Amino acid sequence: MIKSILSTILTIFLIQGISLGQITDPKATEVHFPQPEKVTPGAGTSAPSDAIVLFDGTNMNEWQHLDGSEAKWEMKDSAMTVVKSSGNIKTKRQFSDMQLHLEFRTPAIVKGEGQFRGNSGVFFQERYEVQVLDNYGNKTYSNGQVGSIYKQSIPLVNAAKKPGEWQTYDIIYTAPRFNKDGIRVAAGRITVIHNGVVIQNNTEIQGTTEYIGLPKNAPHGAGSLMLQDHGDKVSYRNIWVRTL
Ligand code: MG
Repeated sequence: MIKSILSTILTIFLIQGISLGQITDPKATEVHFPQPEKVTPGAGTSAPSDAIVLFDGTNMNEWQHLDGSEAKWEMKDSAMTVVKSSGNIKTKRQFSDMQLHLEFRTPAIVKGEGQFRGNSGVFFQERYEVQVLDNYGNKTYSNGQVGSIYKQSIPLVNAAKKPGEWQTYDIIYTAPRFNKDGIRVAAGRITVIHNGVVIQNNTEIQGTTEYIGLPKNAPHGAGSLMLQDHGDKVSYRNIWVRTL
């Protein structure tokens, strides 16, 4: 016993001695290549130089309905707004890992309650929803409120602004990984910052967003970013993505 303790202490001493003893030049631990690419940050919440701008208030060219038809949401005052029953819209481009910025606004005139008040949603790869909902004084199930990974993960806090006010989502999304046999080998992960407040911190995505039943994990590749028509006049603006 004593021998083994002494041996352990000696081993630690030797390891530390070697590592401390061998490197004396601070430059030995400097890495100079590769150099990160230069990116010019946007002013305020505007897009950085390497972002793909998905909506800047001038047109909806990056968007279409699920059947490929032209986006029929209303464009007004540099925002696009859900037109009830027109359906979800999704990007023509396909994405995997990304940083997303978008701004949303739930209707100033409050109607309905629970899931029927300012409901929309941001779906990554058309499958995984970060909920958009008017949760300012509006109670609903915790794993369905604004900033939830819908029916999977309750947000850490409720950072909702008042209905009619613009709110921000800054989201870092890592897509799930599948092996060649279609088995998920790494879950998707997501960090959501709502109005500057972290509400999902590297949260594991359990699988697809399901209204009824449990998440599923069929293999898939890159997919569109999708915005939900849940029947409420939710508006979006200033949407940009940086692929990671
Ligand atoms: Mg929704």
